[in-house]
Amino acid sequence: MDASGTSIDPDKVLFGSKSVTKLPDEIKRLGNSSPLILTSKGRNGVAHGQLLAKILTDASTTPAAILNTAVMHTPKPVTEEALERLKSQAADCIVSIGGGSVIGLGKALSIRTGLKHICIPTTYSGSEMTPILGETDNGRKVTRSDPKILPDFVIYDVDLTMSLPAAVCSCSGVNAMAHAVESLYAVNTTPAISKLALEGIKGLAEALPEIVQDPTDRSARERAQHAAWLCGVCLGSSAMALHHKLCHTLGGSFDLPHAETHTIVLPHAVAYNAPAIADTMEKLASVLPGSEGDAIRGLNVLLEKLEVSRALKDFGMREEDIDKATEITMSLQYANPRPMEQDGIRELIRRAWAGEPAR
Ligand code: NAD
Repeated sequence: MDASGTSIDPDKVLFGSKSVTKLPDEIKRLGNSSPLILTSKGRNGVAHGQLLAKILTDASTTPAAILNTAVMHTPKPVTEEALERLKSQAADCIVSIGGGSVIGLGKALSIRTGLKHICIPTTYSGSEMTPILGETDNGRKVTRSDPKILPDFVIYDVDLTMSLPAAVCSCSGVNAMAHAVESLYAVNTTPAISKLALEGIKGLAEALPEIVQDPTDRSARERAQHAAWLCGVCLGSSAMALHHKLCHTLGGSFDLPHAETHTIVLPHAVAYNAPAIADTMEKLASVLPGSEGDAIRGLNVLLEKLEVSRALKDFGMREEDIDKATEITMSLQYANPRPMEQDGIRELIRRAWAGEPAR
């Protein structure tokens, strides 16, 4: 963290089209020469792995190996297998290219080995800017925070995000927005963080609908990426509250998809906290187009424009899980602006499950 209370360090972040070509220089600058490249399964993961291999070999840097086993929620067995591979290939650093799932595996390997970790994010999860790692083992997700988990360098190349489908952009972008929203009312928020958060929220609220309207809009994708970076900084610098704890419960215990769950829950979590955060609600409304001074309205308008699913039941959550989710959420200890009231929390989860708009 610097003196302003944020984890922003301009020497650790590179932006711009084709910035990925600077990867060999950054690997050398960190004193390394033989990276393990991490990607995800699927067409884009394979293409990203091949792209990095070509850039590295053209610059006479040989990748130790390419591994495409990363999956969501960083399961420990996947990490243990990757660790064996990393050791057997004698890699001396880690490069993760992909969404939060790939970055999670990179963090899990880096904290276990002490190897430097370069991230090339291709979604808006913000994970690359945080010292936080969530891992699943036997169906339970456990999160820890350690300054050593924070990646060493990040390359944001908009070209690599052009293939991200608009629907994935939308949910991933609202996931980033949620980091900034909760940092506005975090117990340890600062004026610097609030400024970054409002800029990040505004940037995403403007750019995401533009991406949905025209998925080839490079400028909108560039602005969304920049805003997501700011939101990631907010997550890495602030204590999260009800929204993140609830999404963690829903994702970890009911196997719901990460970014989609954040997208559905955000307006409801903000509505629950609204009576305790009048000033924040005003600030939030001021950066949400179409809010007419009402932040909840602004969030509902945004999600309508993004044409995303609003119901947890669409992702397989059962009605009988509402009580269990309420019970787990009530048992968690953390600071939240409004005290946790069982009936209110149950109603929040029920509305999100049913897909009713927040109010
Ligand atoms: P993800 O990484 O699973 O990616 C979502 C989908 O997008 C995947 O199918 C992936 O293959 C695809 N994809 C990624 N980039 C693409 C591209 N350029 N073109 C086409 N397809 C592409 O999802 P996510 O939302 O980025 O990350 C979720 C994970 O990140 C969760 O495990 C979550 O816990 C973690 N996370 C961690 C933090 C943190 O600070 N620790 C913060 C946010 C999220």
